[in-house]
Parts: sequence; structure tokens; C-alpha cells
Amino acid sequence: MNVIGFQDADRLVSTRAMQEDNENENSLRPKSLSEYIGQEKLKDNLEIYLQAAKMRGEALDHTLLYGPPGLGKTTLAGVIANEMGVNIRVTSGPAIEKPGDLAALLTNLEDGDVLFIDEIHRMSRQVEEVLYPALEDFALDIIIGKGPSAQSIRINLPQFTLIGATTRAGQISSPLRDRFGVQLKLEMYSHEELAKIIMRSAGILGIDCTHDGAIALAKCSRGTPRVANRLLRRVRDFAQIKGNGVIDYDIAMASLQRMEIDSLGLDNLDRTLMRAIINMYSGGPVGLETLAAAIGEEAITLEDVCEPYLMQLGFLSRTPRGRIVTNLAYQHLNIKNPNAPDSGIVQQSLEDL
Ligand code: ADP
Repeated sequence: MNVIGFQDADRLVSTRAMQEDNENENSLRPKSLSEYIGQEKLKDNLEIYLQAAKMRGEALDHTLLYGPPGLGKTTLAGVIANEMGVNIRVTSGPAIEKPGDLAALLTNLEDGDVLFIDEIHRMSRQVEEVLYPALEDFALDIIIGKGPSAQSIRINLPQFTLIGATTRAGQISSPLRDRFGVQLKLEMYSHEELAKIIMRSAGILGIDCTHDGAIALAKCSRGTPRVANRLLRRVRDFAQIKGNGVIDYDIAMASLQRMEIDSLGLDNLDRTLMRAIINMYSGGPVGLETLAAAIGEEAITLEDVCEPYLMQLGFLSRTPRGRIVTNLAYQHLNIKNPNAPDSGIVQQSLEDL
């Protein structure tokens, strides 16, 4: 799946999938739209597309899902297949190395099936070219032989739905993007929605968790269900050893503190990133690659995993000249901002953010 950076591999609040997430992944994934929590606007639209396709007896239009890691793109692809009552084949952009790999996948599909390609922005151009006629005409053009005797033959494919998922919609070529009739953006989840996800997962895993405990974990989950589920599993261990097995507010807060996750869900890597911009580059702007080299992390990790949430909090801005931290970041880190009009540190309550 995703490439994991040096430090990101060990982070409890990383939004990327880790080995430990796989343990209960399948049991925790919602199977139907009604079980899928949050993303209300997206679900409203999707429900209409699904109903219309079912009424016409056709496959759903090709669908692109985009948004940061861990927000539920893979889960939603499974939900769509389930709601349509069809099979789903799962692969990823980098796994399809040659046009032949794609041809093998496509020719094995049945009518109506969903082909899910994760990280579709990482698919090679060569493979992409083969995908175009498959998406438009449900056909594959194969060249047989070489030189002047080469012949092109057309193989008809079943009517299928491609669901592509990407964390980087901007990196998808426009001919490919234009072939997706449905394009859905996943948003970060509210604390209430994450608390519901945590309570649902706790129920499935047989963990006792109070609503206050769930809210405390939700606030540190970076708007991301994957992080919420991971924190729940970790805090369960603390609750068993340090408490009576129940995750309540006190156990949740004490565990988060031990894991060095602050009240906004920021961990050492986030703080290192912001401190580096402040201390080494006077608050920015600094280029992404320079920053990544300075703190020993991969640029792609900073861009995909740290930055979306820091930007959501209003702590970081991406400008054409590079990254800059905002006054809010100085306040959160308790560092005096020499550039602020009032350079005193304002002790703003984190709950206000
Ligand atoms: P992505 O493909 O966007 O990286 P996933 O679909 O793998 O994210 O979701 C990560 C985890 O979060 C899954 O294990 C799933 O259980 C949980 N999850 C995601 N979205 C939801 C949701 N809307 N409701 C409940 N659980 C969710």
C-alpha cells in the first residue's frame, strides 16, 4: 500500500495503514451505507446514483474517491459494491506493473463488478492508456505480433465500474479524471462522528467505552477514522492494566498523555515539523524538500500525513514560496512569535480551536 516514512512508521496518529490496523480491519469496516458514519453530503448524492443505476439495471458510473489517507475510501468502495450486490476486486496503482496485468484483471471481471484501484495516481502512463478504451467502450485493444505483421484485436469486456481512490487528485492526468462520471471528495470527520465510529468499533471489539472516553479519543483522532480505531485499541491496553478495563475520560486522557499525543492529536513529528519551521527558518516560508531533509522524514509523509491536519487546524499554510506556520502554531507550542503584532504569548484554550 502506501510508502511509510522513517518516523511515520511508528506513529500512533499516522493516518496511513499499519500492520496492526489489519488485525480487525475487516470486522470494523461498515458494509452498508447506513452503517457508514458521517460524510452525509457525499452519501446523499451517492444514494441517488446507486438507486438510479439499479433502476436502469446498469453498472454504476466510474467513480473517483479522493481525500487524505484513512478517511474511508477503501471502505466506501466495498460499501458501493455491497449496495449494488456485485463483487469487488481490489488492487492498487503501483501493483499493476504492465498493461498485461490490467488486461488480466479486466478480463476476469463479471457484469456489474467493481474494480477498485487504490492510489490510482501512481499507475503508469502505459497502463493508463490501456484503461481508456476499457472505461469508455468496455473493450481492450490488444496488439498481437511485432513490426509490419502486427495486428490489433479488440476484446469486449463486461460492463464494470472502476472505483479509483487517491490522496492526490491533482496528480491524476486530466484524460483519466474526465472518464470518472462520479467524483466524490471525502472530508475529515467531526468529533461527534468520530466518537460514533469509536463507540461502534468498541461494540464490535467488545471494549467497554464511555461516551466521554470516546469524545476524548475522537478529539485526538485528526479527523480520521483509521486513527480513531487505532487509538481505541491502544487505550484498551491502558484501561486493562491501569484501570478496570473501561475506557472513560480519565483513562483516555492519561493514556494519550503517556503516548505523547496532545489534546489536538498532534504528536512529536507534528511538533518537530512546526518547531523546525520556527527555529530553523524563522517561521517560513521553507520548501517542502528542504524541510523534509532538515527533520529526516520523507517529503511525501509530511505532505500526505502531517500537513492536511495541520492546515485544517490553521497551524500551517502552503504558499507558492513554501510552508509557513501561523500565529496559532506559535501559541499552541507556547513559543513567542517575534512577527506577531502583539508578540506576547496568548494562552488560548485548546478547546477553542
Ligand atoms: P482509506 O482507504 O481512505 O485510506 P479505509 O477505508 O481503509 O481508508 O478506512 C480506514 C478504517 O477506518 C477502516 O478500517 C474502517 O473501519 C474505518 N472507517 C473509515 N470510514 C468509516 C466510516 N465512515 N464509518 C465507520 N468506520 C469507518
